[in-house]
Amino acid sequence: MRSSLLSHARAIGLGLALCSTFAAAQPPAQQKTQVPGYFRLAVGDYEVTALFDGYNDLSPKLLKGLKPEQIRALLARHAIETPGVQTAFNAFLINTGKNLILIDTGAGQCIGETAGMLSQNIKAAGYQPDQIDTIFLTHLHLDHVCGLVDANKQPIFTNAMVYAAKPEADYWLDPTALGRVPEQARAYFKIAQDSTAPYLAAGRFKAFTPGDSPMAEVQTTLESGHTPGSTTYQFTSKGQSIVFIGDLVHNLAVQFDHPEVSISFDENSKNAIASRDAVFTEAAGKKTWIAAAHLPFPGTGHIEALGKRFQWVPVEYGPYQRAAHVPLID
Ligand SMILES: [Zn+2]
Repeated sequence: MRSSLLSHARAIGLGLALCSTFAAAQPPAQQKTQVPGYFRLAVGDYEVTALFDGYNDLSPKLLKGLKPEQIRALLARHAIETPGVQTAFNAFLINTGKNLILIDTGAGQCIGETAGMLSQNIKAAGYQPDQIDTIFLTHLHLDHVCGLVDANKQPIFTNAMVYAAKPEADYWLDPTALGRVPEQARAYFKIAQDSTAPYLAAGRFKAFTPGDSPMAEVQTTLESGHTPGSTTYQFTSKGQSIVFIGDLVHNLAVQFDHPEVSISFDENSKNAIASRDAVFTEAAGKKTWIAAAHLPFPGTGHIEALGKRFQWVPVEYGPYQRAAHVPLID
């Protein structure tokens, strides 16, 4: 027995020596790639997958309502000192067991090389774009709508019906808009129209009246301000709810502490601020999941109310579904 333990120990020693020699000779190469951009969460019986389309760096000057030095101080608390603030583009997939639904489609080819990763992340998450049967657009800004089509303006989601609220569709898709809006706004209208055109031509774009449910599983609410028809989509299963809020918030470091701060992209800042306040207050009270287009990926979490301020509580990485009973360790 003693000699076999001894030879075992010698073998381990020899192995370790070999390992350390090998390690010293050839250190592991750095991988220098990011993990796939998806995150999964169960909401009742629904499977929700957050999808990373990319990001853009936004100037802090776009945030309005506080002095520049106050904005800078709030960003510095989040260690943001660069000229641009990294702003994620998140889209979300819901598999209800019956339908495969996409909320927003990212910036596609409209931003440059920092975005347009939605399709590859849909595939990484185990799905194909042609399996998606329904798309709900929170609004028709380019970072939500441009991902509907590829670089040749061909539809990516070949089997999907696309929905947007009627005030939103009326505003952006009016063919006379290009002739009357200011020059600097024209490109945004053109992108909304070009991205939806093949779906409209194929009879696969529908505008719904705010508050209506294009399918039984979804509850829609008009939350205008950011755009005239900005809409939230709520799904509920087994007593759990998740609300997809689109662009009700753009900056984690500033707009939870100061929900009265708007962003230049808001068409009506007063209404945008009121919509944010109403949705945040309700989400905090009901403890619903929130899924936001521009909060740090996966843009999913809860909201806590702190007087007139709010706090973002991001989802914690973990198993897809927590065990029903997790023994406490104390
Ligand atoms: Zn946006």
